[in-house]
Formats: sequence, C-alpha cells, structure tokens
Amino acid sequence: MTTTRKRVLSGMQASGRLHLGNWLGALENWNALQTQYDCFFFVADWHALSSNYADTSRIREYVRDMLIDWLAAGIDPERATVFIQSQVSDHAVLHLLFSMMIPVSWLERNPTYKEKQEEIKERDLSTYGFLGYPVLQAADILLYKPDFVPVGKDQLPHLELTRELARRFNGLYRPVFPEPQEHLTKFPKVLGTDGRKMSKSYGNAINLSDTEPVVRQKLKTMITDPARVRRHDPGNPDVCPVYDFHKIFSPLPVIEQINRDCRKAAIGCIDCKKLVADRVVERLAPMWDIRAALTQQPGRLDAVVEDGRRRATTVSSQTMAEVRDAMKI
Ligand code: SF4
Repeated sequence: MTTTRKRVLSGMQASGRLHLGNWLGALENWNALQTQYDCFFFVADWHALSSNYADTSRIREYVRDMLIDWLAAGIDPERATVFIQSQVSDHAVLHLLFSMMIPVSWLERNPTYKEKQEEIKERDLSTYGFLGYPVLQAADILLYKPDFVPVGKDQLPHLELTRELARRFNGLYRPVFPEPQEHLTKFPKVLGTDGRKMSKSYGNAINLSDTEPVVRQKLKTMITDPARVRRHDPGNPDVCPVYDFHKIFSPLPVIEQINRDCRKAAIGCIDCKKLVADRVVERLAPMWDIRAALTQQPGRLDAVVEDGRRRATTVSSQTMAEVRDAMKI
C-alpha cells in the first residue's frame, strides 16, 4: 500500500499486562496518531529480554495479551501496521551492524542505564544486551525511517542517540537514514491503588484484562485522603487518588459534586469509590467484549500478526538493501 502520510513508529516492551496508565498514556495517543499518520506499532519482545533474559517463561503470553489489549483499546490493524519485533529479523541484523560503529562511551553515558541498574537490584543487568538496549532501539526506529517517534520528555536522550547513530552511519558510508523527530507526548500521571504512580512493578495497577469483580475490588482497597479516618471527618480530595480517578473517568458535574461533598463529609469514601468504579467499568466493558471475542477466535489475532509481519518486512527489507549497498556487504 503506498501512502503519502508521514510515518510514525512506536513500540511497547512485552514485560507484563497493560494497565490503565498504559492505556491513558500511550494507547489513547496511538489511537489518535493512527488517524493522521502511517503508523507502525510493534511489540518489543526482544527488548523485554534485556532485563528479563533469565525468565522467558511468560513472554509469549505477554506478547499475545499485549496485542489483544491494543486491539481492544482501538488500535486498528487496517490503519496501522501492528507487528512483533522478533518476527522481523532485520531488527537483529541492523542492531548488529550498528553495534560495530557505536562507541561504548555513548552507551555508558545514557542516563537510564545506571538508573535502571540501581533500581533493579535483584537481577544481574551487567550484560552486553542491557548496555546495548539503545542500539536495538535505534535499529527498531531507523529500519522504518519514520518522520516522528512519540516520546515523553524523559525519553528525548534516547531519541537523540538514535539520531547520532543515523548521522554516524550516514557520515561513514552514505546517507541512508533520515533523522526522526520527536512527537512530544504528554503522558498523564495515573496513580495506582496505593497512591504511587501506577506501575506493574509496584503491584498497584488495574489491568485492562482484569475482570469486573477484580477492578471493583482493587478500587475498593484504593487509599484515600489519609487524614480522613472516620466517616464524619471532612476530607481533602486534592490529596486523594480516588478523586484523581474521578477527574479522569467521571463527568464534570460529578467531579464538582464530589469535591464539595468530600470537604463537608457529605459523602463517604465507600460510596465515592463505588461511583468511580461504575465509571471505570463502563469504560472498560467494551474492551472486555472485544478481548473475549479475540480470545475465542485465535485465528483472527494470528492473521493480524501475519499481515503486520508482512507489511513491516516489506519496509525493513528495503531499508536493509540500502544499508548493505552503502556498506558494500
Ligand atoms: S470521599 Fe472520595 S475524594 Fe473524598 S477522601 Fe473519600 S474517596 Fe477521596
């Protein structure tokens, strides 16, 4: 399919189930992007190995679950090319070629390299693959010569490294890679049930694949204003994660009502949580229906993945032909 639309590329690491934070942050943005751009969205299963190489027992399940979540959340494989990184071997080949030319010092100065090693103490991350993570990321991006890559501000250094690598390649051989620009994305901070940022590693997430009783139970146990101990204590919604959920999921009149009622103890936290749970369930229910239909027809998902692999490979093999020609290999 030829297209004159500008191209966007983005991926997600397959290292667990997707939660509300992933949906409201990344997937809602992808939904909007696919209407304007020629989008390539990939499940980054090789990236998951960079920090989870020792336990790969659930990776296939995560990949499949992630694809189902994407489609359930509205990613349309007719509009966007949806594929799995490990099914397009050109990612590995370009990663290898880039690894020959990237100075190690560029990787060692990557701020997230040391940060992550500090953060994830229980796994040995002193590996070549973990250090070289940004090289694989550069290969993922440059293979498709995208115009834009959606990133948050904190990921800008990674994209700059990709551009530096493109410049280095173009300077050493001949210009093959355009320098992709950032499509700056504001990721809303969605709080988890314990009031910290929602994250699968904190165990505080509401997953898109959770069932209705699980969602309701998780919201029931969500922390509230810690100073509101008894039912008749006035609360402060500004410090309450449940109120943050209302701000995302409830209509404005309800948000304003809760704000007033909480401050004069006219509503209890149990009722307030039930109200928000109803809204969350309402938003997730259509996704659960799509998820159920896809789970019952595994052939549909296989067809999407195969079509995505074919479309991605058409582009990646063209780029690799140019790379081989430029490098004379
Ligand atoms: S009433 Fe609602 S907003 Fe107020 S503290 Fe309780 S849960 Fe939070």
